[in-house]
Amino acid sequence: MRFANSVTDLIGDTPLIRLNRVTEGVGATVLAKVEFFNPGGSVKDRIAVNIIDAAEESGALRPGGTIVEPTSGNTGVGLALVAQQRGYRCVFVCPDKVSEDKRAVLRAYGAEVVVVPSNVTPEDPQSYYSVSDRLAREIPGGFKPDQFSNQNGPRSHYESTGPEIWRDTEGKLTHFIVGAGTGGTVSGTGRYLKEASDGAVRVIVADPDGSIYAGGEAFGYDVEGVGEDYIPDTYDPTIPDGFETVTDAESFAMTRRLAREEGLLVGGSSGMAVVAALRVARDLPDDAVVVVLLPDSGRGYMAKVFHDDWMVERGHMSADDIAAQTASSAA
Ligand code: PMP
Repeated sequence: MRFANSVTDLIGDTPLIRLNRVTEGVGATVLAKVEFFNPGGSVKDRIAVNIIDAAEESGALRPGGTIVEPTSGNTGVGLALVAQQRGYRCVFVCPDKVSEDKRAVLRAYGAEVVVVPSNVTPEDPQSYYSVSDRLAREIPGGFKPDQFSNQNGPRSHYESTGPEIWRDTEGKLTHFIVGAGTGGTVSGTGRYLKEASDGAVRVIVADPDGSIYAGGEAFGYDVEGVGEDYIPDTYDPTIPDGFETVTDAESFAMTRRLAREEGLLVGGSSGMAVVAALRVARDLPDDAVVVVLLPDSGRGYMAKVFHDDWMVERGHMSADDIAAQTASSAA
């Protein structure tokens, strides 16, 4: 009989899928590493197992303990999958810009969700960092994985995401493009790919306009899960070779195209990464191989990126552009 012993055994080993239509005019091969194939629907499943294993080993997490984490949803799903099986309670702190859909998913997995305001500084007592610190202290047996400092995050990518990409491209990739939230994906995967290629692979961070990774000023933006207003410990600034700043409008237009033209229903940070990947790929020779990582599924964004009224209200697309997109995909 062929079966998995549990859902967590299916984390990782996600496929590379060539992009064929949004790559019009690009000679290089552009391959998407599609992380919604993880059982929790995102790249963050990968870090959950490693973080919990390490916490059990160090004694930071004991039987019957409670996991308290600030998470925009995806890390919470990963942690909840693992916590369930091992008998831990989960309390997640979410900024209010995170869609209600995503919060409902966390509750469906049996987690408790605390919602806090998005547009406050990290030091603010209401910020998702501060509230999760306080809850982890107050709840007996509380453990805060702290995805923004926990080195088991980047290590997961060094041990799984990087080797998978190297193996599946037979070492032929030339460029790796991804967004950075905690920076764990780019730091761990990028480090592995650079070591494996003796420094030949170029690593480019796709960054939202409004995030500071690419060196710009911090301000509010709508794409979720990527960009920061400070540099977390999980981000290794020696890894990226370059940055591409992408606006919300560009990210979301591409996210919608990926669903309509490539059959890939992915989130806004995936659209953002593809915009950056195509900018890079456009100037490359035909034998270049660009891998772009798509962090999560689009299912959590039906009320946002995939909702025409929301797109127009937030100024990300004009009603005319929406109509044109609908007409072109019907053609
Ligand atoms: N995209 C989405 C949708 C995410 O939830 C995350 C994780 N915050 C990322 C991208 C970025 O991944 P990382 O934290 O590894 O930089």
